[in-house]
Amino acid sequence: MLTGRCLCGAAGYESPGPALFSLVCHCRDCQRASGSGGVPVLGVARSAFVSTGPIKQVRTKGGSGHPAVRNICMECGSLLFGTPESAPELVTIYAGSLDDPAHFEPRDAIFVAQRPMWAKLALELVEHPALPSA
Ligand SMILES: [Zn+2]
Ligand SMILES: [Zn+2]
Repeated sequence: MLTGRCLCGAAGYESPGPALFSLVCHCRDCQRASGSGGVPVLGVARSAFVSTGPIKQVRTKGGSGHPAVRNICMECGSLLFGTPESAPELVTIYAGSLDDPAHFEPRDAIFVAQRPMWAKLALELVEHPALPSA
């Protein structure tokens, strides 16, 4: 079971998993939303995903042209997970919110063309300039 919560503890989520993909997204939207050089993301099925607590949805136009929806705690503003409209069957958990961050084992880095030089991780990841072609 994958579980996680925000900084203040008011909002949380759980998913039976498994992780369908694990990557770090370096797009400019993720940089601005998080204030960092990228967001570690773990994809799970939306059908078995449950969230609790006060969650606000922030919608912006994503790289797909469909709205990217970021779900944040209404109390403390922590980024928790994404619910992309371009992939309604998926939830993208922001790995730093996991109760056990060791459950995140990144494999890919995407949008590396937009990655600042200081944000390259010291990990062997498969790098994609933008979205990987499926
Ligand atoms: Zn919170
Ligand atoms: Zn991104």
